[in-house]
Amino acid sequence: MKYDAIVIGCGMSGILAGIHLKNSGKKFIILEKAGTLGGTWRDNTYPGLTCDVPSHAYTYSFEPNPEWSRVLPPGGEIQQYFQAVFDKYGIAEYVRFGTEIAGAVWKGDAWELKDQRGQSYQGRVVVAATGVLHHPNYPQIKGLEDFAGHVIHSARWDHSVPLDAKKIAIIGTGSTGVQIVSALAARSKVRHFQRTAQWIFPVENPAFTEEQRAEFRSNRDLLTYLQREPTYLANVERFTEAILDPNSEQIREIQKLCQDNLDGSIQDPVLRQKLQPHYRAGCKRLIYSPDYYKAIQQPGSELITDGISQIEKSGVRTSDGVLHEVDIIVLATGFKTDRYVRPMDVTGLQGKTLEQAWSDVPTAYKSISVPDFPNFYFMNGPTSPVGNFSLIDTSEMQWGYISQLIERGEQAGVAGLSAKPEALAQYDHDRKQAAKGSVFGSGCHSWYLDKNGVPNTWPWSQSRFRQEMLAPVWQDYTHHQTEEAVA
Ligand code: NAP
Repeated sequence: MKYDAIVIGCGMSGILAGIHLKNSGKKFIILEKAGTLGGTWRDNTYPGLTCDVPSHAYTYSFEPNPEWSRVLPPGGEIQQYFQAVFDKYGIAEYVRFGTEIAGAVWKGDAWELKDQRGQSYQGRVVVAATGVLHHPNYPQIKGLEDFAGHVIHSARWDHSVPLDAKKIAIIGTGSTGVQIVSALAARSKVRHFQRTAQWIFPVENPAFTEEQRAEFRSNRDLLTYLQREPTYLANVERFTEAILDPNSEQIREIQKLCQDNLDGSIQDPVLRQKLQPHYRAGCKRLIYSPDYYKAIQQPGSELITDGISQIEKSGVRTSDGVLHEVDIIVLATGFKTDRYVRPMDVTGLQGKTLEQAWSDVPTAYKSISVPDFPNFYFMNGPTSPVGNFSLIDTSEMQWGYISQLIERGEQAGVAGLSAKPEALAQYDHDRKQAAKGSVFGSGCHSWYLDKNGVPNTWPWSQSRFRQEMLAPVWQDYTHHQTEEAVA
């Protein structure tokens, strides 16, 4: 059987693609390597897991949720939300769980995918919805394997390990490390290892009352309004407009709010100095936290800023020679964010591999298409917008664009579409030029940067991305004819 489309991955983007493909009557399948849906929200179950995007904004536009418990939703609730949407739209019958795709080859008018068992699947279109925060980054720290206690990566939490009253080293100060410290400080003795201080934006996270939820249930207009709440949207737009200029008024304003948060929250001048970042706010993804500064000042907490020299049987030794004895080491060290669909082997026209196409850095024209890979489209792929906003919104914009590519690719005589090399070259040139001068490129290390140190993200505003996703520029696409594509 040849499918109209094959979606790889059943996380937030894959479910979205599935719902739209089903609604438009396409023959499709979703292939998911894990045993359940949810992607990053399935994989991450660490204590304190919270989305720092307001819950009502972190929903599919067509499926508002009156049941959120708080302004910032706990990870478990988000996973439940995706499960509920998945069930409501009857997506299960389209999914093959436990199916890991090893390779994909373009066969002239369709893709042939092979899974780990050697079973093949044919589809005219492939939608790579494999996520970006997916492959855990295990740091190369000398002696890590010698540690006698438990070592847990934040994205592979081991819930059988008791945490109460334990001494726990948390390595990493990204959104994840900060959330874990905040959650554990009241019950464990936290040792937070900071390589780089972070700017922390003050937020509150009140619970919704039962009365409020009843109001959300009965008032669909209110719920729809909250999904696209004007202040939130305006803040996203202001921030994404400001990205291009690290010295813009908006960035300075954000930095001042973060600085006031630090100065007003931390009493001890030595600790305050340790927590003081030395780069522009917004260079790394901003941390939104209502309680980290409180957590790190708990009597049982300690912030350690001396570099880690090695890990030993009983703990972490720092460059000042001190051995910090701990029971558990948590690696909140992030993800390998340049992997995308890899390690899958993808072979497009004339035997060209994605590995070759990405020999410098991963990229895709307007985040969607790579030349010579007809009908292979990315969601939240290379150069997608990232920041403190809803990636569901990004996926929806991308789907609007991809669905038009799919329709166009079904026209008589067209075997497939891929971005023209010159269109990608121009896009990459403009994107890199802008990105280098952006706040993301203003002098810090982050997962936004490619191996050359250039931000590999959409450097322009959210509204520009929305505009670009409204309609493909057809001159920028090669319309592969069936004979040419086979040759
Ligand atoms: P991350 O932002 O990449 O942070 C990784 C941390 O580990 C950094 O502090 C890094 O230090 C540190 N690190 C890495 N290798 C190290 C080593 N060898 N020694 C010492 N420290 C090391 O990862 P993350 O916190 O998991 O967050 C990744 C992304 O996930 C976020 O940016 C966000 O997009 C998403 N996320 C979102 C939420 C949310 O609330 N929406 C929550 C969690 C995560 P340096 O800073 O010095 O490099």
